[in-house]
Amino acid sequence: MKSFQVGILGATGAVGQKFIRLLEHHPWFNVKALGASERSAGQKYEKAVHWIEKTEMPEDVAAIEVKECNPLLFKGIDFVFSGLDSSVAGHIEGNFAQAGIPVISNAKNYRMHDRVPLLIPEVNPNHTELIKKQSFSSNGNGWIVTNPNCVSVPLAMSLKPLHDAFGIESVVVTSMQSISGAGYPGVASLDIVANVVPYIGGEEDKIETESTKLLGTLDTDSVTFGEFPIQATAVRVPTIEGHMLSVSVKLKDTVSSIEEAQKAYTEWQSPIADLDLPSSPDTPIRLYEKNWYPQPRLHADRKDGMQTAVGRLRRGTVMDLGYVTMAHNTIRGAAGGAILNAELLVAKEFIS
Ligand code: NAP
Repeated sequence: MKSFQVGILGATGAVGQKFIRLLEHHPWFNVKALGASERSAGQKYEKAVHWIEKTEMPEDVAAIEVKECNPLLFKGIDFVFSGLDSSVAGHIEGNFAQAGIPVISNAKNYRMHDRVPLLIPEVNPNHTELIKKQSFSSNGNGWIVTNPNCVSVPLAMSLKPLHDAFGIESVVVTSMQSISGAGYPGVASLDIVANVVPYIGGEEDKIETESTKLLGTLDTDSVTFGEFPIQATAVRVPTIEGHMLSVSVKLKDTVSSIEEAQKAYTEWQSPIADLDLPSSPDTPIRLYEKNWYPQPRLHADRKDGMQTAVGRLRRGTVMDLGYVTMAHNTIRGAAGGAILNAELLVAKEFIS
């Protein structure tokens, strides 16, 4: 397997640091360039960053000089991961794609673009075909692929087996989102310690639209979104990592028993299982039967933070089914998800 030289945009942020930790021993991807704002540019990474990861900063990365996010400064890089703040991601990621450097992004800016795949490899791997329709660069070398919001990941992953088996009619979801979801320094401690904040700006819209694109069908030039409404309430809770969701689902087909719903999960086959991608967990969705599982502190790190947990699966009184689901927001919901996207794009030879 060829190895690839990669850059990280937004390398000093919470997601950027997670990329650096997850890529430290990656078999295919070597971190060679780091980008951040002009506040950080020109400094060695170890000076520019406020390191919040639990592991040591990799020595080779610590010594890299942070650059401004200008594609001319990223010559020789095969592609970039982006953990940029959304206030700047739009024009910076567009500049990289126009310059012929593929971008695998965590930011929201291009997620709803007609020809940009919003990608979860286990949910909609065929949406990568949209890359061929993009025209950011004249030779087609520059393109953008996005991964979803950190709540949409467990929502779409947990809906997928139900959608395949019964069809989704409508969804009501309340997300209980950890503090790390707000980046660093994030939410003021006086707001969140021993408290719950019942509003996260801009979050509910993303939750309500992204899963319908993820579970939509690929057409010639775009995706036809799934035709089911989602009503979301996004709440910040004082956990550190792992977003928990309470989900109620109305289904198109009748579910005759709760065992039938459980079977939809336990018998579901990931469409990328045979690709053997380095970051792909052997069990992408784990169904817990104990009523007090999953919990962010106990289960967010399972399978290196790449597994989506589902629990409390039960019949509903208003909707057909209720359940909780949870995923690690900065790994599965951000950097780890983007790395898995890149691995799929290597396997499909979009990156070569
Ligand atoms: P963060 O901690 O605030 O980091 C933001 C990064 O953007 C920093 O590296 C920062 O560099 C850089 N930046 C800011 N202004 C810039 C500019 N003018 N030019 C170049 N770089 C600039 O945020 P985060 O939590 O890591 O989130 C990063 C992105 O991922 C966001 O779009 C977010 O919505 C998305 N996301 C986050 C999560 C999560 O759970 N945290 C999950 C999914 C997606 P400086 O240090 O130099 O300012």
